[in-house]
Amino acid sequence: MNISYNIIRKAAEVSHKSNVVRGRVGAVLFTKNGHIVASACNRRYDGHKSLTIHAEAAVIAKAVKLRARQRMDQLFVLVVRTKRESTAICMAKPCPVCDKLLEKAGFITFYSDYEGKIQQLKR
Ligand SMILES: [Zn+2]
Repeated sequence: MNISYNIIRKAAEVSHKSNVVRGRVGAVLFTKNGHIVASACNRRYDGHKSLTIHAEAAVIAKAVKLRARQRMDQLFVLVVRTKRESTAICMAKPCPVCDKLLEKAGFITFYSDYEGKIQQLKR
């Protein structure tokens, strides 16, 4: 499956809203036809050094809020990371916790690899 430039750009854009200095991650949930259902970035909570909500968990929470749950098994997610002061896409493979969340949600997951290429997550 080819991920459209529109989806990749949206994931990069939303990552720029992150307040995590060392790794800005964006996640976009979309349908087979390329319709964007929800997007979210990772976020560190003010006054709490170690509490960071990962973009994958945030986008699942948004989808639930939007009542997209009944269609979740037909959805895809793209996760990308952008470097500080750059729009270049770099490695954003989901962590084990997010991997489990995405698997439970039934999403087909794509992420940006070390070269900034989009890969499907194999389980
Ligand atoms: Zn994670």
